[in-house]
Amino acid sequence: MSKYTTGIHHISAIVGDPQETVDFYATVLGLRLVKKTVNFDDPDTYHLYFGDESGTPGTIITFFPWINGSTGRIGDGQVGVTSYVVPEGALPYWKKRLEKHGLIVSLTERFNEKNLAFEDPHGLRLEIVARARGKNSTWTPEELSPETAIKGFGGATLFSRKPKETAHLLEMDMGLTKFGEENDFIRFRASGDMGNVIDLKATATRNGLTGVGTVHHIAWRTENAAEQSEWQDILRNKGYGVTPVKDRNYFTSIYFRERGQILFEIATDGPGFSRDESEDTLGEQLMLPPQHEKHREKLERTLIPINVHY
Ligand code: ZN
Repeated sequence: MSKYTTGIHHISAIVGDPQETVDFYATVLGLRLVKKTVNFDDPDTYHLYFGDESGTPGTIITFFPWINGSTGRIGDGQVGVTSYVVPEGALPYWKKRLEKHGLIVSLTERFNEKNLAFEDPHGLRLEIVARARGKNSTWTPEELSPETAIKGFGGATLFSRKPKETAHLLEMDMGLTKFGEENDFIRFRASGDMGNVIDLKATATRNGLTGVGTVHHIAWRTENAAEQSEWQDILRNKGYGVTPVKDRNYFTSIYFRERGQILFEIATDGPGFSRDESEDTLGEQLMLPPQHEKHREKLERTLIPINVHY
């Protein structure tokens, strides 16, 4: 028995200075800071969520800023590249926009699609691809329009320590369809409109090291708690060490390390980011779950203030 995910729910990465992260993802990429909270497992660290206007699953990238953290190394056992999707025809605009902000942008091609490849301020590898599929964004700050703004994730490139086993998991247990092979990449597709194109590097090279500038985990969509519980049973039966359900306030999560050592999460679509603040003011205040609310005063004193400029 297997289950189907429609694609990526969110991707979480470790970065350095939080203000640099906000300046890059909100100002340069034009995403919305939809939640400013703390890492529930380490509340002295921010957890910042960026996405479309409402933080739709498939658009959300989240960050743990480790201010004095050591630099990691992108490699096997990690998500190697995070891919964003923009409307068809918008790539030339993005090349100019990124270069105007001083980024080095290279144009690459995979599976007959052009990609803009670049890095964020802390070394995370990003790409932008143009596709018709997926609805245009209504969050359009600073010169952006629905015809140019990032819609959400195009997908991700996985670097696995055991690519054959990761491929088997994606195709046989998670319901993705193999689309093709090209050079050193195998492409899979999930059924969703965004965050649905997954490239797997077909050979392992060098293990990654967790740290600043690396992806911590990738979360896949599931509809609700009942489905999540089925995922938990099925994955456990296949021998994966799956965690109990964790309440992340805006969704619930289970985690397991797949056999290529990439940390996978299965996250519910709901309840979403309007759970504790109105959609109009998402991301403006520091939001804390009940277990950390009692330490608000201390946290507000110790967390470095951040300012968002759209
Ligand atoms: Zn997560």
